[in-house]
Amino acid sequence: MVSHSENSRYPSYLALEKAEFSRRIEQLRSMLENCHLCPRDCGVNRRGGERGYCRAGDKLEISSYGAHFGEEDVLVGQGGSGTIFLTWCNLRCCFCQNWEISLLGQGQVVSPEEAAGIMLNLQQRGCHNINLVTPTHFTPQLIEAIYLAAEEGLSLPVVWNCGGYESVPVLKLLKGIVDIYMPDMKYSRGETARLLSSAEDYVERCKESLREMHRQVGDLLVVNGLARRGLLIRHLVLPGHVEESLEILEFIAQEISPHSYVNVMAQYRPCGRVPASLSRPVSLSEYEQVISRAASLGLVRGLR
Ligand code: SF4
Repeated sequence: MVSHSENSRYPSYLALEKAEFSRRIEQLRSMLENCHLCPRDCGVNRRGGERGYCRAGDKLEISSYGAHFGEEDVLVGQGGSGTIFLTWCNLRCCFCQNWEISLLGQGQVVSPEEAAGIMLNLQQRGCHNINLVTPTHFTPQLIEAIYLAAEEGLSLPVVWNCGGYESVPVLKLLKGIVDIYMPDMKYSRGETARLLSSAEDYVERCKESLREMHRQVGDLLVVNGLARRGLLIRHLVLPGHVEESLEILEFIAQEISPHSYVNVMAQYRPCGRVPASLSRPVSLSEYEQVISRAASLGLVRGLR
């Protein structure tokens, strides 16, 4: 059943006035001149050729795109999730599996028009959504691409597949454009966030971002097996950090919603420059402790 609170036009961006859409694009683009698109607040002029912590420039860069069948079932359906991997990242997680893309910048520059063409291509192939992976640092360019694609007939919901280190004022500009937010919640303690992702304020920023996302789109609504609108939270269990996982689940159940869709992931593998404490996979017993707490808190929607 479709929630009565949904827009009558779907996806939501089809209901957004063109003038308002354009105003948001301009506002987001102006942020590039003194970049504060994410909590790093680098203040660099990306339009003038400077680069900040994420290393992203003025132009959109994409590493790959395609129909992806490895995402959550509610995103994949029969046709796959139309995934677009963005180059660079505003976090530097020492265990990142995609470091060639996030740290070395493997990818190529595309114009908003070309990005819009990619979105339309994914729609033509039968994908169920446009899944933007690590989009935060390219928010203005991506929103412009969505606008252009919508003009040409895009009608798939947008999935904002981010690391959870977001700026609330920027998220407010995505209201009515993004239908599905899919943030990570990686840590519950600032010291861990500082050590593993060089982002000491990650926990506060992530919590306020999740609150804003949930305010905008609510709990995940699934219709005929496919995510239609709402919040889907991912959490990767780290070896030796079970207590943090439990704290994260408690936060979600108590302060976001006990009906949240949470995907608790066990696929951590050591790679890159991880500290000794992270040089092993998560044990079955660690993972089971986390899953068991999720179940006892009622967070069962994302459990397989
Ligand atoms: S998006 Fe990049 S340049 Fe802008 S504030 Fe974040 S890390 Fe800095």
